[in-house]
Amino acid sequence: LYVEHPVGQGQTILLDRDQAHYLFGVMRLTVGAEILVFDGQNGEWLAEVVEAGKRGGALECKAQTKPLQLPPDLWLLFAPIKKARTDFIVEKAAEMGAARICPVQTDFTNSERIRRDRLQAHAVEAAEQCGGTYVPEVAELAKLDRILADWPEDRQLMFCDESLVGARAALSAEKADKWAILIGPEGGFSEAERKRLHAMPQATAVSLGPRILRADTAAVAAMTLWQSTLGD
Ligand code: SAM
Repeated sequence: LYVEHPVGQGQTILLDRDQAHYLFGVMRLTVGAEILVFDGQNGEWLAEVVEAGKRGGALECKAQTKPLQLPPDLWLLFAPIKKARTDFIVEKAAEMGAARICPVQTDFTNSERIRRDRLQAHAVEAAEQCGGTYVPEVAELAKLDRILADWPEDRQLMFCDESLVGARAALSAEKADKWAILIGPEGGFSEAERKRLHAMPQATAVSLGPRILRADTAAVAAMTLWQSTLGD
């Protein structure tokens, strides 16, 4: 269970109504039951239910079961698409170990707004589901040209360029501490964006194979390619 209160030896975690409903109503836990909790900063802890009510409750941390396992410093930048597909991208990015998830507005992005809180909740659920101890932050929607204007010199960018479809994936096995993956929207990148990205010294244009993939499939394929070439 993800909790916002810091976990640690002897820490008491107060539960809100939703958490109480889930633990005591859905999971049927009672006082004395044990549960694993994490806060995204201090690893995973075994906690005991010390109070169980309809509107709240409390857990007490007993012992650490896992230290914090930080993912590699990999950001996923993607152009938001339809709601359910955007949810899918965030969920899979969190499962596959992205450290930060950044929705970006490109020239052909259809969606002008995102529900950041909703996407963050998907990232939390994905981390819970895969036994992670870290939750990637979902950033606010930002314009791609602004992001590129301030792009850090020391962060490599794996730019998934659909115009290279059919070429061989060209992600060299050069390790760098900081990376980002960029996936375009359904309409692809504009010529101006492509030109700018190809001119960036930190960017490597990559093909994801012989077919044009949907953006959500491309995000998963790109993260797999990155993890297998450069991941830990
Ligand atoms: N409308 C575009 C076209 O027909 O060329 C396709 C865009 S594709 C649905 C969405 C994004 O997924 C692309 O901008 C790119 O980032 C990524 N993508 C999909 N297939 C790819 C491939 N074979 N190689 C590299 N990137 C790919």
